[in-house]
Amino acid sequence: MKRREHVLMSRREFLSVCSKALPLAGLSLFPFTAGQLLLGREIDKYDPTQHDYAMGIDIHKCIGCGRCAHACKNENDVPKEPHYFRTWVERYIISAEGESYVDSPNGGIDGFRELTGDIDVLRTFFVPKLCNQCANPPCVQVCPVGATFVSRDGVVLTDEQYCVGCRYCIQACPYGARYLHPQKKIADKCTFCYHRLVRGLLPACVEVCPTQARIFGEAGRQSSPLRRFLRFNDVIVLKPALNTRPKVYYAGADGEVR
Ligand code: SF4
Ligand code: SF4
Repeated sequence: MKRREHVLMSRREFLSVCSKALPLAGLSLFPFTAGQLLLGREIDKYDPTQHDYAMGIDIHKCIGCGRCAHACKNENDVPKEPHYFRTWVERYIISAEGESYVDSPNGGIDGFRELTGDIDVLRTFFVPKLCNQCANPPCVQVCPVGATFVSRDGVVLTDEQYCVGCRYCIQACPYGARYLHPQKKIADKCTFCYHRLVRGLLPACVEVCPTQARIFGEAGRQSSPLRRFLRFNDVIVLKPALNTRPKVYYAGADGEVR
């Protein structure tokens, strides 16, 4: 019998792909159909042990247009109502007195209105936020049924078949990156568009960003744009003192960003 050269996707990694890709293709998850098996063959060659994904965000480049947050909702079946986001954009307003204010109307999807009012504005900048795909994720640690897990390519995923919607992970995430999906009753969040990654595509937010403020790739891969980004920029992660070891890196962020 011919030996497989790759360690193929685990059942959970595979289901995380199917739960997003199949409904978008008009197919249901169970029972498996010919179409699903076809998709299965498409991703069969994907080897999660050969990847370790991360994202860079260049704050100097973000113009706060919100196209990323908009594309994310469309791509990932995120409810259209405000307060449900896998990724969103915040505007930081720094006053002449050194005070900082943050706003994010509708997650920045519709852009930001010009500032009016009493604040003597020194500067403003935009900070896209999302799940940090922590290497030491509190959400995984608290899940009582093991539904949230880290895939072998370093992406924190939720197994929708096992999630009981208890919200423990939502409370444990220090970045506010999770929400309870109102229809599915499961904890949802950014997956780096895992269903796209396994097919060699970029996350939707990265693909649509008009200024390349979002950089995606693998720090360990010589040819990766992320590696270049990390080499040529001073980067920070959010809330480093919590030791969650985020894999979303920000360039151009100063002490105000939290
Ligand atoms: Fe979990 Fe929150 Fe870290 Fe994402 S940012 S891996 S949801 S703790
Ligand atoms: Fe910023 Fe790019 Fe998102 Fe526009 S699409 S808000 S420029 S990250």
